Amino acid sequence: MKPVDINQETTLLLNQGWIPVHVMTARACFYQFSRNHVYALDCASMQFDFASWMGGFKSQDDDTVHSPTLHRDHPVFRSAHDVWPLPTIVVTKSRFYVKPPPARKYERLTLRDLCRKKRNKCQLCGKVFHPDNLTIEHVLPRALGGTDAPDNLTLSCRWCNQRKAAMHPVNDYQGRELEGVGPIYRYLEIRDSIMREEWDKHLIIKKDQP
Ligand SMILES: [Zn+2]
Repeated sequence: MKPVDINQETTLLLNQGWIPVHVMTARACFYQFSRNHVYALDCASMQFDFASWMGGFKSQDDDTVHSPTLHRDHPVFRSAHDVWPLPTIVVTKSRFYVKPPPARKYERLTLRDLCRKKRNKCQLCGKVFHPDNLTIEHVLPRALGGTDAPDNLTLSCRWCNQRKAAMHPVNDYQGRELEGVGPIYRYLEIRDSIMREEWDKHLIIKKDQP
């Protein structure tokens, strides 16, 4: 649990189509959530309205009460008498945000993008490195005609990068054939300092999805 200031940006807002539109402050999230303008997604992507987030809800199949599963570093908001976990992802019920913001142009992946996506883990040896020691790895080497498209790019440490050189195919640290990160399309730019791991799957969207 991580106590947060009311002005801290804590919560990713998705529109009705689950497309990210905005990052909300703790204050805005609490305001919208307590008025049931948005519903929350917990750790397991289960949906909660304000009352069930606070008190759990009864399953229709049996009498089990479901409470939200929280993240280890879950932001909490302290009011005078209480501590409230703030949802880190909410979905609007309003039609106001139906349209996603204008789609950005297809962006070329940077080393930073790849480090974020792969959590600084070399995809060849599986070890975690400081970004200074990581490089963009071409699955099919450029020397063999590989491109800079995201489905040909992944992350490796400098040492593995040298060892791999122009070899193809190569297995990754899980023993599977090394793969690129796939076509991605990003709608929101979010500062690293407020970025949360559970937002990734919403922010990086395959191009063929809506
Ligand atoms: Zn490596």
